[in-house]
Amino acid sequence: MPIIRVALNIPIDTLFDYQVDEACIQDIGLRASVPFGKKLMTGVIIAISAETQIPPEKLKSAHYIFRDIAPLPTALLDLFHFCSQYYHHPLGSVVMNGLPGKLRSNKPIRLKEPPIDYQFSLTEAGKQIDPSSIPARNRIARRLLTALIQSPGLTHGDAKQISPRTIPLLKEWELLGWVLATPISAITALKAIKIPTLTHEQETVVNAITTDNNSQRFNTWLLHGITGSGKTEVYLRIIEQALNQKKQILILIPEISLTPQLEAVFRARFPATHLISLHSGLNDTERLSGWLQAQHGTARLILGTRLAVFTPLPDLGLIIVDEEQDSSFKQQEGLRYSARDMAIFRAKQMDIPIVLGSATPSLESYYNALHGRYHHLRLQSRAVRNATLPSVQCIDIRTAKPHDGLSEPLIQALSKCLSQKHQSLVFINRRGYAPVLLCKSCAWTATCQRCTSRLVVHLRDKQLSCHHCGHQEHFPRACPHCGNQDIVPFGHGTQRVEDALADRFPTARILRIDRDSIRRKNAWEAILQTIHAQEVDILVGTQLLAKGHDFPNLSLVGILNSDISLYSTDFRASERLFAQLMQVAGRAGRANIAGHVLIQTEFPDHPLYHALQKHDYDALAHSLLAERKMAGFPPFVYQTLLRAEAHDIQTVLEFLTHAKELAKPTKDIEIFDPVPAHMARLKGMERAHLLVQSASRKHLQLFLDSWAMQINSLSTHKVRWVLDIDPIEF
Ligand code: ADP
Ligand code: ZN
Ligand code: ZN
Repeated sequence: MPIIRVALNIPIDTLFDYQVDEACIQDIGLRASVPFGKKLMTGVIIAISAETQIPPEKLKSAHYIFRDIAPLPTALLDLFHFCSQYYHHPLGSVVMNGLPGKLRSNKPIRLKEPPIDYQFSLTEAGKQIDPSSIPARNRIARRLLTALIQSPGLTHGDAKQISPRTIPLLKEWELLGWVLATPISAITALKAIKIPTLTHEQETVVNAITTDNNSQRFNTWLLHGITGSGKTEVYLRIIEQALNQKKQILILIPEISLTPQLEAVFRARFPATHLISLHSGLNDTERLSGWLQAQHGTARLILGTRLAVFTPLPDLGLIIVDEEQDSSFKQQEGLRYSARDMAIFRAKQMDIPIVLGSATPSLESYYNALHGRYHHLRLQSRAVRNATLPSVQCIDIRTAKPHDGLSEPLIQALSKCLSQKHQSLVFINRRGYAPVLLCKSCAWTATCQRCTSRLVVHLRDKQLSCHHCGHQEHFPRACPHCGNQDIVPFGHGTQRVEDALADRFPTARILRIDRDSIRRKNAWEAILQTIHAQEVDILVGTQLLAKGHDFPNLSLVGILNSDISLYSTDFRASERLFAQLMQVAGRAGRANIAGHVLIQTEFPDHPLYHALQKHDYDALAHSLLAERKMAGFPPFVYQTLLRAEAHDIQTVLEFLTHAKELAKPTKDIEIFDPVPAHMARLKGMERAHLLVQSASRKHLQLFLDSWAMQINSLSTHKVRWVLDIDPIEF
């Protein structure tokens, strides 16, 4: 009997063998439900074999092979393999992590009727089928096929008229690739929209990508364009070309909050193209449905957040990663993969172009562009005629002391902006009322019992809340340490700034935007509408507001509290702060209104603020690169963290020390001593890590191959550990 080798979501890097009555090579990539311990588990068939190492008495039979959907394509399985090898993560976890929830369950999927009306037409494969080849007793199938041949664009309703039984048939034929379903909304939404004439710069860039001799081959393009330079229009043009070549296009974006906006732009430009968006805001059914449409090739434009990089796409011809520097492309738990890096691998594997877009590329990508590994394309001016970059000034808060977080020059600027009926934005990257609750008599502060962090004051609901583990507790009546009742919120968060602004500008319409205020479903769309309808005068918000939004009437941006990132122990803090401030600053003056940015700081002469004032990414990037080179940090070395956690720190450190002893250092590999993590305690677990680095990625990978095996052999039941390849947090 044949053996199927199945990848299961088990934290052991091995495949599991089961016998089946029948299986063939075409079954690779199908899901199988198999007994594991006392349970049934669903995994993916990775190989078929005639033999197994498992002794016959222990070999179990598979419970069921699902044939409800087509097998995962080889290219996707290859991507999973690569991901598993590169991140040293068990293949089964990688595969199952990449699939929609419904495909991980022990039940076959049932496809409901589509909620929207579709038009059905035959694909090339469908057109090859002769109705007379369908047995005469399948009367309905014959009639349906004939109807499809006679009237391309058969609707749901038309099909139902033939018989309600045509509906499951259509679904089946769609799965077989005979029929193409296009939502009618997409067809009738055809509205005339104005397509702008490309600026000279945009044209050069579009031409470079589309008329490149090898324009359909693998190439990594770094589209480096200042905020407002019209990167989206460049994407639209190259997407258009790829669509004309009958390709599918994958567009990865960092934030779910960006999807409705971009989705609208794409829908308007390509109304007849079937677009899906894949992100964590979808329920299981929606997600599965989108995934299947991508796998069948019905969906042509796939817009998604990081997980979408694992979508099966038979006709993939172009990948775009927008805001490539964004840290949300890197998953920070479990399989710690970088979707941007996986996307590059995928493009290479498929031999197709990939475009990384950013106003402030990651230093890694910038470095690659400088060294010719990526093609550097630049957009240096704003796309809208006469729109200029905002002026950036520092307010020295050593002299202009803020009250309630707001300095007088900022107040005056806000007030002028109000009188001109322009919008303004006050940026503070901290939600809540205040980051600290402080006892004035003994200096006690409220901290989280489970994390190395302070509890944030949320005054509205009289709660203290940990932003790391979600723990909440009531305000204490008095200091638990000394009994003093004079305990006060210290420092500023978005809520406090909102209150302060309301005090100063009682008639202004103020809107706060942070993770707390957008928690409700669809809150984002409502908020964006309010802003665009000019129903807001002053926005207060965190970095949620910074990303990619286009607010034409916004002319002033005030930045509070950014100094804390200037002297952080994290070597990436400056890079991130700069990217973030460039982004926020970029919100001002996008249309024909001049923009101003005011930064409240104690360090007005800091090189980072100087670079910001001159909008000089290159100057800052070069100086940061020089620092990194001196210090031996990425991109000059490749890093891996062995992260470990346990209930007590001693166990963690012992484990790491042991792991270090096991490591056989080879030339080029540097191994550091174990140190506590930046957040030494998180959710009740003590954490530490050990850093390994090398100037050669290849050598580091070779080292990790054998080291990971040795760590695996350690008895570690008290310790949870993981290798974090190319870590971005410490
Ligand atoms: P980026 O993503 O580079 O920050 P956007 O793509 O959001 O910039 O474009 C900024 C603004 O410029 C948008 O309002 C867009 O409609 C406009 N725009 C883009 N290209 C052109 C063009 N060629 N002519 C006129 N306006 C343009
Ligand atoms: Zn006290
Ligand atoms: Zn906590």
